[in-house]
Amino acid sequence: MPVTPLAARSRIPATSPTSAPPDLGPARALSCRECGATTPLGPFYACAECFGPLEVSYEFGSVTRESIEAGPANIWRYQGLLPVPSTVRDTPNLEPGATPLVRAHNLGRELGMRALWVKDDSANPTHSFKDRVVAVALAAARELGFTTLACPSTGNLANAVAAAAARAGIRSVVLVPADLEQQKIITTAVYGGTLVAVEGTYDDVNRVASELAGDHEDWAFVNVNVRPYYAEGSKTLGYEIAEGLGWRLPEQVVVPVASGSQLTKIDKSFGELASLGLVDGSPYRLYGAQATGCSPVSAAFKAGHEVVRPVRPDTIAKSLAIGNPADGPYVLDSVRRTGGLVEDVTDEEIVAGIRLLARTEGIFAETAGGVTVATLKKLLDAGRLDPDADTVVLNTGEGLKTLDAVAGVVGPAATIAASADAFEATGLG
Ligand SMILES: *Cc1c(COP(=O)(O)O)cnc(C)c1O
Ligand SMILES: [Zn+2]
Repeated sequence: MPVTPLAARSRIPATSPTSAPPDLGPARALSCRECGATTPLGPFYACAECFGPLEVSYEFGSVTRESIEAGPANIWRYQGLLPVPSTVRDTPNLEPGATPLVRAHNLGRELGMRALWVKDDSANPTHSFKDRVVAVALAAARELGFTTLACPSTGNLANAVAAAAARAGIRSVVLVPADLEQQKIITTAVYGGTLVAVEGTYDDVNRVASELAGDHEDWAFVNVNVRPYYAEGSKTLGYEIAEGLGWRLPEQVVVPVASGSQLTKIDKSFGELASLGLVDGSPYRLYGAQATGCSPVSAAFKAGHEVVRPVRPDTIAKSLAIGNPADGPYVLDSVRRTGGLVEDVTDEEIVAGIRLLARTEGIFAETAGGVTVATLKKLLDAGRLDPDADTVVLNTGEGLKTLDAVAGVVGPAATIAASADAFEATGLG
């Protein structure tokens, strides 16, 4: 159970008991995932009773397939299921989502699968799934009176926060580990916010952010003090998968695990769709995927533990390199409850996974996509995933962000003089 100091809670006057409750759509309260105690909607993330993490709870109005389909081609088509103000569509934002659900015939054939899809979330505005969570966090943060968007990040979140703040016309403050990929530093700095490189791991950066959140009351650290709202953005991945399959749930989903939030929210989204009658509640299994060099959740799963012991990350999959994952125990709950599991793959397997997806489907994934594809293959090879079940594998980020992962292993077949004869001489014709 991660414990968050109450001192880090924000104290924004907008949440005083005398002011009107915020307009966060169908959201009604925050409830503790450990003890169930409820807290009014506000910039809170830790339970006052037990320090457990808070989660948004809802009273949904009428949401139908038709009302969703009549909405815009971005995550706001699911506005009625998200903790965002009614004005969200009129406020400048990056409008993420509506990414392709690719029927992966070639990859499926190569792996011996009957029906495989790749949910390609690299097709978001800053080329990772993080645009979804940041858009929801930004909308909620503005409603709660914050004036600056901030985050500690392993890279993709930095891109998404800096770009979203630029579009919204507000300040951003982004903290990253100093050893981050050059591409991700440049693709954050270019948006012009405040970017600070911290000498340490992501977990060190996260600690600094938690301390700063206590001192700067008007800074919304998207994944710290407004985390309950931020996390809900991941539900849109699940909604899109179900809608993309023609309003039904897949039987198996392979999901990357960093903090673990995404996997647990895909689980939540499927449950909501079923309870609203938007899909029938057919069973599904969730499979968590980690890099062996940072696999605390996989290790806990394999050992049969309910808690996750922190590790020091050492992997090329930097976007997943969270050694102390806040939602790790809840990932264990989700995979065990649905009959799935958590597995991890080596850096070599990750590179092979990136190349396999690129070669078979024309999709260039970042290392996190290499992790999920390699995990899919590993589980199939071991007979631990059903090749005949409808399966979705997530690619959550763009390969151009992690060029170094493959720079040493792919390149031209030959370098030749500028003549057709020289080409023919290579034997490649
Ligand atoms: C952040 C991230 C994830 C997973 O995030 P969680 O912290 O587990 O929700 C997956 N893929 C990419 C590319 C990411 O940047
Ligand atoms: Zn509690």
